[in-house]
Amino acid sequence: MKCKRCRRAEAAVDLPSHHAAFCTDCFFLFFRRQVTEGIRKLRLLAPEDRVLVCVSGGKDSLVLWDVLMDEGYETEGLYIDLGIDGYSDRSKEKVLAYATSRGKTPIVVDLAKEGIPIPEAARCVRMQECSICGTVKRYFFNRVAAEGKFTVVATGHNLDDETARLLGNLLHWQRDHLARQHPLLPGTDEGLVRKVKPLWRVSEVETAAYGFLKGIDYVTEECPMSEDATSLVYKEALSRIEDRMPGTRIVFYKGFLDPSNPLRKGPEAAAPADAVGTPRACAACGAPTYAETCSYCRMKERVRKARSLRAAPVSR
Ligand SMILES: [Zn+2]
Ligand SMILES: [Zn+2]
Repeated sequence: MKCKRCRRAEAAVDLPSHHAAFCTDCFFLFFRRQVTEGIRKLRLLAPEDRVLVCVSGGKDSLVLWDVLMDEGYETEGLYIDLGIDGYSDRSKEKVLAYATSRGKTPIVVDLAKEGIPIPEAARCVRMQECSICGTVKRYFFNRVAAEGKFTVVATGHNLDDETARLLGNLLHWQRDHLARQHPLLPGTDEGLVRKVKPLWRVSEVETAAYGFLKGIDYVTEECPMSEDATSLVYKEALSRIEDRMPGTRIVFYKGFLDPSNPLRKGPEAAAPADAVGTPRACAACGAPTYAETCSYCRMKERVRKARSLRAAPVSR
């Protein structure tokens, strides 16, 4: 099959959802255009932005960093070491290797040093690893961005991630979550930094193909703690629909983002669903919160207490 764009080279990537097939060079052009169009349409980034790119060592975040650098954005990478045996070391290696190849040194946050490695924290506070991980990541994205004077935080969520989340929110009629779901969450005066998902228009298959053809080395294993995550079930269901009806995912998501959709408040609904009153500074760390202390500090305190209980000698 010939490339549908240049009609000369052999096609290297087949994209049924776009009724297209491209040679490597044309696919690079196509992919980057999808990303830049996604940025432009929703005004995710401005040329003068300082972008903190959150990299996990997986394909999506490294591809995102790669594209943003190639597009001329001023970027730095942030890697959060979750402290998960083996997996964390392997993903950190990939991040460091990629960063070095582009002459960059990523910012690294080590959760073991911060006193809250994910596996131990999950045992201590009896919460799902993924929800602890989410809270901790959100906290450091914001803190590192504020400390480093970044204007925006970018994550590598792709179309598959966003539609899986949308399907889950719809199936459970999570109206608050639906109202907030958007590739752009604006910053607030109280110190929340703007968050964007520039890969929202590209699928996982496209991102993987881009990473592979570009020679970016990434971890292919899923996080070992998220094996039974329900989002994988929604992804599988959507993949089966997409196989039979190519293009369904993007139609589903674009329809949701349509400003006339009453379920979606989008960028305007920046405050968290449980927010009551006005935000203030966390008494322990100064981060913006709606309570006395922020959810990260509360979690850290619970981990510290559980630890000291275990360490205390049994009396009598
Ligand atoms: Zn071509
Ligand atoms: Zn705090």
